[in-house]
Amino acid sequence: MRKIPMRMCINCQQMFPKKELIRIVRRASDGTAVIDSTGKVSGKGAYVCHNKNCIKAVIKDNKLEKHLGIKIPEDIYRELERVLTVQDDG
Ligand SMILES: [Zn+2]
Repeated sequence: MRKIPMRMCINCQQMFPKKELIRIVRRASDGTAVIDSTGKVSGKGAYVCHNKNCIKAVIKDNKLEKHLGIKIPEDIYRELERVLTVQDDG
């Protein structure tokens, strides 16, 4: 049996396969926050599932800042908002 790595969404606290989550990482090399689409950036990570309510809550309540302990740049929030927009099409 293959073991799927699971991670917890910082909003709903549910476990999801790592690949299905959006990973935002405080990059170890320079300490800034980036969205990691490869899963290979080293640093402290925060995971958000694709549930609209979770993405909205994470943006609204600054959950990423609290979780990672750093200021989250605007472009990360814009990127998350783009995920919401894409979902609206479906
Ligand atoms: Zn969630």
